[in-house]
Amino acid sequence: MGERIRGVAGRWIAVAGLAATACLLLAATRPVPVPGPVPASAPTVLPAEIRVGLATDLDLLDVSCCESRSWLAAEDGARHEVDGRFSVRPAPGRASPGVHRLQVAALRDRWQAERLAVRLAESLAQEADSVLDAATGLYRVRVGRYGDRERAEEARGRLRVEGFDDVWIAVEGAVLEDPGFVVEGIGRIVGRRLRLASEGAVVDILGRRYRGALELFVNDRARLNVVNAAPLEDYVRAVVPVELGPDLYPELEATKAQAVAARTYAVRHRGEWDDEGYDICATPLCQVYGGLEAEHPRSDAAVAATSGEILVASGGPIEALYTASCGGRTELVDRVFPRLAGDGPTGALCVEGGVVPLVGAAGGTPEQHLLEALGLTGVRERRRAERLDRARSRGALQVVAGNLGQLDGRLLHLRRDGVRLSVPLAPEADLMTTEAPPGGSPTNLGVPVGALAAAPGDRVRAYLIGGRAALVVHETPARGGQPRAVPWSLWRSRSSLREAVEKSFPGLALVSLRVLGRGGSGRVFRLELVGERRSVEVDGLAIRWLLDLPENLVRMTPETGAGEVAGWRFEGSGRGHGVGMCQIGAYLMAQRGLGYREILWHYYGAVDIGRPGSAPGS
Ligand SMILES: [Zn+2]
Repeated sequence: MGERIRGVAGRWIAVAGLAATACLLLAATRPVPVPGPVPASAPTVLPAEIRVGLATDLDLLDVSCCESRSWLAAEDGARHEVDGRFSVRPAPGRASPGVHRLQVAALRDRWQAERLAVRLAESLAQEADSVLDAATGLYRVRVGRYGDRERAEEARGRLRVEGFDDVWIAVEGAVLEDPGFVVEGIGRIVGRRLRLASEGAVVDILGRRYRGALELFVNDRARLNVVNAAPLEDYVRAVVPVELGPDLYPELEATKAQAVAARTYAVRHRGEWDDEGYDICATPLCQVYGGLEAEHPRSDAAVAATSGEILVASGGPIEALYTASCGGRTELVDRVFPRLAGDGPTGALCVEGGVVPLVGAAGGTPEQHLLEALGLTGVRERRRAERLDRARSRGALQVVAGNLGQLDGRLLHLRRDGVRLSVPLAPEADLMTTEAPPGGSPTNLGVPVGALAAAPGDRVRAYLIGGRAALVVHETPARGGQPRAVPWSLWRSRSSLREAVEKSFPGLALVSLRVLGRGGSGRVFRLELVGERRSVEVDGLAIRWLLDLPENLVRMTPETGAGEVAGWRFEGSGRGHGVGMCQIGAYLMAQRGLGYREILWHYYGAVDIGRPGSAPGS
């Protein structure tokens, strides 16, 4: 996924004084929250449909019709049966010859695009704006409104003088007073939205098959936006296999985690591009959506097994971002997405980063060690279990189970159902490893070891005496592939970087780069671009787009030649934005036998995994 925008989702923002950041020192075992329906007071309902923007600003759409009996439904309730190929175009508006505009840039970062539009509007005293092209995932920045091409050409000449080399003329329709469509064979249909539905609930759109209906929307530029209105679960079925290939990553629990994250993302971002007639785009900017052909039996099973489940905090769906590979540690959301401050995942260590070494004493059997630590010596073997049970019921012995976060000195950080727990290790803590099922009795704890090779997210059980862990048991079998983060290295010459930077900052003439801030995971979150006459600061994911890097987790080293900077060496690891669930990490956790809830809690912290009600009509 690419960048995120708050948009309509702003209504969820309040957010938890995140319980996940609280450091609870464990006393007695707390009741475990059971995933279930969110409280009746919660405003969240699952939408019946997600409207996916597939293409924008078309002059005409050819529709291949149809696999089964189909009809066009107009906004006024009129229905027209259709059969065979036909075309649709926006109805010419009343006295609207269209306007000529200058397209200055097409950028991946929404905020860079908006800022550029504001700068252009100020410096040229002309109307400027940015609009997402749903098919490419790029934000087009356009300026001016000219009645004819000649005037647009003149303005282009002036822009060129000011350093804008790559400007072309686009024609937009004028805003319509009476929007409508012209459908071949039917004629004019009034309204802004037109829906093609079929009995088989499958439609062919731009050469691909989709479940649900085709919707056409006349946008503010009097052009057609092409939308697939898909039932929510069908939408998720067509996202999960593209986002986490079930053949490449065949672990059901990881696929289930992906399904819950994708569903949450869609529910939260519903209505984001309402003005454009759709909720969500189909590119990596949102979630990649493959349509019916992308479906796969294994991801279908994962979607069905988690049907309707979303991640909820403070009564609303969370900002369920996910990233391909995090390089060993995920980042706090607002470091990468400055507009999402306080409103999303905090950072977590990832299994990709390797093991968290836990070193302790090793000896005896678990019961012997615990009895000794309790000051109970000379207990005969057949009485040992009973004495330990008694110690537990008195509260002298406590058991805490959770998933390993990290080890901070002698403080063991665990997460249980997303809640962070910190357990101090006793100086003589024993370590054991077991393949016994979680919840196995203390008499069946496996073998003592001197060090544990536990990865972040692994299941760990600590036995506390006097508030300190006297015994730690690693319960996750280390099966599956070796976790590893894959490093990358790139060289960019000064001239190529200059050119890239000019797209967002025309006339800057880049001279050097200066890192102004790094997040807890090491990601660059603020960068100064020093130009010949001025400097600009860029933050968050925009840095990655601007420099065209796989990740913000990067070291930048200038390399000089002939006395000046010839270019930069960029070395980093991870691929994606580094926030939320790490997809490769989820796969590796599932390989180690962890469940989808544990995976989600590991990366998203204190969230409920709930199944809200459905919207009426679904
Ligand atoms: Zn990772």
